[in-house]
Amino acid sequence: MSTLRHVVVLGGGPAGLATAHELTAGGTRVTVLEREGHVGGLARTIHHKGYKFDLGGHRWFTKNEDLNDWFRRLMDGHLVMVDRISRIYHEGKYYNYPISIGDLVKNVSPLTIAQIGASFAWASLRQAAGGRPVVTMQQAYTAQFGTKLYEMFFRRYSEKVWGAPCTELSADWVSQRSRGLSVATLAREALLGSRKDVVSLVEQFMYPRDGYMRISERMAEDIAAAGNDVLLGARVTGVAYRGPADFEVAYTRDGEARTIQADAVVSTIPLGVLARILSPACGPEVEAAARGLVFRDLITANVMLRRRRVSPDTWLYIQDSDILFGRMHEPKNWSPAMVPDDEHTSLVLECFCSRGDHIWSMTDEEIGRRCVADLVDKLGFIEAAEVEDIQIVRTRDAYPVYDLDYTRKTQTIQRHLRSHGGLHTVGRGGTFRYNNADHSIEMGLLLGREMQGDAVDHMAVNTDRAYQEVKRAGEQGGHYRRRSVQVD
Ligand SMILES: Cc1cc2nc3c(=O)[nH]c(=O)nc-3n(C[C@H](O)[C@H](O)[C@H](O)COP(=O)(O)OP(=O)(O)OC[C@H]3O[C@@H](n4cnc5c(N)ncnc54)[C@H](O)[C@@H]3O)c2cc1C
Repeated sequence: MSTLRHVVVLGGGPAGLATAHELTAGGTRVTVLEREGHVGGLARTIHHKGYKFDLGGHRWFTKNEDLNDWFRRLMDGHLVMVDRISRIYHEGKYYNYPISIGDLVKNVSPLTIAQIGASFAWASLRQAAGGRPVVTMQQAYTAQFGTKLYEMFFRRYSEKVWGAPCTELSADWVSQRSRGLSVATLAREALLGSRKDVVSLVEQFMYPRDGYMRISERMAEDIAAAGNDVLLGARVTGVAYRGPADFEVAYTRDGEARTIQADAVVSTIPLGVLARILSPACGPEVEAAARGLVFRDLITANVMLRRRRVSPDTWLYIQDSDILFGRMHEPKNWSPAMVPDDEHTSLVLECFCSRGDHIWSMTDEEIGRRCVADLVDKLGFIEAAEVEDIQIVRTRDAYPVYDLDYTRKTQTIQRHLRSHGGLHTVGRGGTFRYNNADHSIEMGLLLGREMQGDAVDHMAVNTDRAYQEVKRAGEQGGHYRRRSVQVD
């Protein structure tokens, strides 16, 4: 039973809304403060001239069946099932993603296959002999796949996404995304077929028919229907800690500075920002750690086309460094409701960048022109005359960058925050963790329970070291569990 009088949640993305949703279900008074004029955070959907665009294709997937049940209940009547076709475009050829041995044999020369096999055998021998500790992204990829496959499929794309050499990035991201996948597992699957106890999650996924933001909107609807507040256009500027369970949160709304009292604060705003807007002010060590946490930004080019379809893909990864964007998706392949009519389609092109770099510094017109030129001249995917409109969207703080020192920095900040009784962090930017939306929602639901007295740990979410896209029969992933129903 909750003893909380009023919780203030900073940020109305999936994590903040899930926390507020669970607190609301437990009868706790909650106010969500969201800076933008919409909920959803990075998982928002933009409506423009009859089209709908996510910030890059977002799919729902989790190994946690209890969380899937929660999700199906929340989204009842709003979901479609999507077949996943995800490919890599590499030097003019298409490869399935995750990579399959069959594709390699079809697309590359016997000499390259021999090099792939030899470099993988060498990497395996080194690992078996004790190997080097795996610290960097480069070491993680080469230990799993060998240097040849790393060079072909991982190095260039990773450097495009992160804007830094793989030798300067942490191995942690690789272990979250592809641990358990290796040349050996690919070869075994090619020769023997998939293991019977493995149920792949990669072939189909659930998606909200009208765009991913519907998930956040549905949570916000439930929160408001129960009498709690989700305040849009409310930018948090300060959090004053006056003692355990005694906070004053400062924010601006409609051009006016306001304050709100709380006995608990849940933050989903970037971890380093929270440390710096908290008063009393943190010391120089925490300040330096907070400033040292870096995010990668994102520009999406939403291209509207008079054409029925461009590709069969749900995602297409474009590695070539002379193409401005690194990934594209065609929203109509996810849900027909994403386009105004069947005669039209659209593409969302993701340009990974950092504020102030050469991509971010381009004007919207320059980015639009360059993206169309890449699609027409370099890739041959569309005709220039088919383009009816382009919308450019700039998103800050899209990807937490795992540099080689990020763990020390996040731990320094979290140690400082722990001395503020009643202050909680959750979510992707909030914990500086490379969360998918399902992780952020699971963390939020667990935090809501934790705050109401349940013995659960929301920080355990997204720490599993198993490959996220493969599920074994009977495996119940994650940490969120359905509450048992009492029958009188
Ligand atoms: C290109 C791309 C593709 C992705 N694809 C997938 C996918 O396929 N599947 C998947 O599950 N996940 C995907 N994700 C990840 C998913 O978007 C995030 O995990 C999820 O949105 C994180 O939710 P969150 O609530 O933790 O953080 P956020 O979504 O970042 O929400 C934080 C909120 O805080 C608000 N805020 C920040 N500062 C303030 C302030 N000062 N005052 C008030 N409010 C503030 C922000 O406006 C935002 O609404 C993708 C992300 C990107 C960028």
